[in-house]
Amino acid sequence: MERCDRCGFVSDSLPARQVASALRAVAAQYRSRLVGLVQGSERGEPRPGPWTAHDHVIHVWGVLSGHRADLMEGGPSTGGRHPHTSFEHDDPAGAIETAAAALASLVERLGADDSRPDDHRPDAVRIGRDAVHELAHHLFAIARLVDDTPRSASG
Ligand SMILES: [Zn+2]
Repeated sequence: MERCDRCGFVSDSLPARQVASALRAVAAQYRSRLVGLVQGSERGEPRPGPWTAHDHVIHVWGVLSGHRADLMEGGPSTGGRHPHTSFEHDDPAGAIETAAAALASLVERLGADDSRPDDHRPDAVRIGRDAVHELAHHLFAIARLVDDTPRSASG
């Protein structure tokens, strides 16, 4: 059982049939988390140095999109990487929700059908779990950003 040192997520503890709903549920938390942190019209790619909330959003969106592409094509994995430069969304939280929902649908379709001999079935669950971790991990990181910001140097 592998537990993430940073966010505490335990991938194996998420039952296969709950992966899709977890994707949607964690993605839905981005909207309230991003209020006041991300300007609607921001776009671009993560910059060097400490990441902003916007950088985290673009990264997560890229990973979700890459995972989805992997499942759709069923070809060799790209490792979930996706060109960040193509992120152009006026609603970053909505972009995360849409990407997560699309991936969740694929995971449901490919991962939940036990009756079908599908080579991609285990992959769909594994990729889905990775994506849930990705969402949770960066949501945690964004929360830390908020907690770490104005802090007195004297304390
Ligand atoms: Zn983590």
